[in-house]
Amino acid sequence: MEEKRLKRRIVLVPVPAQGHVTPIMQLGKALYSKGFSITVIQTQYNRVSSSKEFSDFHFLTIPGSLTESDLKNLGPLQFLMKLNQICEASFKNCLGQLLQEQGDHDEIACVVYDEYMYFSAAAPKEFQLPSVVFSTTNATAFVCRSVLAKVNADNFLIDMKDPEVQDKLFPGLHPLRYKDLPTTAFGPLESMIKVYSEVVNTRTASAVIINSASCLESSSLARLQRELQVRVYPIGPLHIAASAPSSLLEEDRSCIEWLNKQKPRSVIYISLGSLALMETKDMLEMARGLSNSKQPFLWVIRPGSIPASEWTESLPEEFGKLVSERGYIVKWAPQMEVLRHPAVGGFWSHCGWNSTLESIGEGVPMICRPFTGDQKVNARYLERVWRIGVQLEGELEKETVERAVKRLIGDEEGAEMRKRVIDLKEKLEASARSGGSSFSSLENFVNSLKTNNFRKQCPVQSQKCIRRDSSL
Ligand code: UDP
Repeated sequence: MEEKRLKRRIVLVPVPAQGHVTPIMQLGKALYSKGFSITVIQTQYNRVSSSKEFSDFHFLTIPGSLTESDLKNLGPLQFLMKLNQICEASFKNCLGQLLQEQGDHDEIACVVYDEYMYFSAAAPKEFQLPSVVFSTTNATAFVCRSVLAKVNADNFLIDMKDPEVQDKLFPGLHPLRYKDLPTTAFGPLESMIKVYSEVVNTRTASAVIINSASCLESSSLARLQRELQVRVYPIGPLHIAASAPSSLLEEDRSCIEWLNKQKPRSVIYISLGSLALMETKDMLEMARGLSNSKQPFLWVIRPGSIPASEWTESLPEEFGKLVSERGYIVKWAPQMEVLRHPAVGGFWSHCGWNSTLESIGEGVPMICRPFTGDQKVNARYLERVWRIGVQLEGELEKETVERAVKRLIGDEEGAEMRKRVIDLKEKLEASARSGGSSFSSLENFVNSLKTNNFRKQCPVQSQKCIRRDSSL
């Protein structure tokens, strides 16, 4: 085993954001368990540390990349665009150095880069190494991004401003409506379209790995596979296949003790992930509705998630009072452990893809309040396709909040949702087990690497791989 491990190295390039770091580190663990060595090449901002969890991984930093203050000044979308502009050359140096240093038994099998780190494609192409795109969202969102990459920005903007159009089904993407498409709250539409057209362009990659499973979205996966010219490997959910705790923020474990004191399936867990923002008025309506529902709630309020406030100090006194009756607040929770806790009955989520997979993986139905991007796609699927969630749309009002909580926790409807999510949880577990679809997909990917199949498809050796644009 050890000898095999020395022979092949995989280079991972994560986006420096929690929702991207988590699955790529899980992928690293899964590939490590198959006998590969892992090198993570990351930016200066939001670095994963070589903690005991990853003591066998090798970490390198791309010099001169952006910092936390750049993120604050630029905002997530411009930050990403700038990162892609400035990192290409230094990443090439990093990879070149790694190639020079590698021994005969430590050769790089491939570079796996997050789809949003598209600057990473150039270096492996130059060094004639196989590269693989890693998509941390799902196939449906990928298909949507491809559609958006081709829209005319001016016409689309006019359409999206028309409330009647917003509610219409988007042609060819049933059951998604115009308003469910993964547009971004983090910047102008033109920039988003530019980023999407880069992201869906698989360039010289030999394959696309996706953190999803066929039991969740077989038709979108089939569509993606038909329309991309490279093999798509759905190997998710990775958190079932490989545990790789990689929290970038400190987890407050006191909430587990608080959960221990609550009745089974009574608590609503609220978390909006690592980037979403909340308006004060929405938080107040949430607190009022939750309080009226009489259910206990555990609420993650991330520092910086309320505009113009360090943490919760800008919220009115009423908020504190409402929360103190039945609620518990933390800055960051051990989410997997919380979802697994028997006291948790529902998850109020922004519907990031990791949170969605984690909630389904623990059989917890959801209240969906998407904020941006693919979260809207996921929320629609949670409510309409998998029917394990209640989506709150439009203005947040305490009455609708209270109703949603009661539907999820109290009603027969909630019990039906719970049954369906447990059924889906079992399907996900089966797909990750030996013989399951995601398990086999990972095996196929690993076999292709071990038999050098991807290397054979490298640009210099095959004309097939010359820069290709997604034809979605
Ligand atoms: N998370 C966590 N503690 C929290 C909130 C979130 O550990 O208090 C984790 C969560 O388990 C998930 C990730 O942060 O793995 C968030 O990823 P997701 O794709 O759901 O949302 P994003 O942060 O990308 O918007």
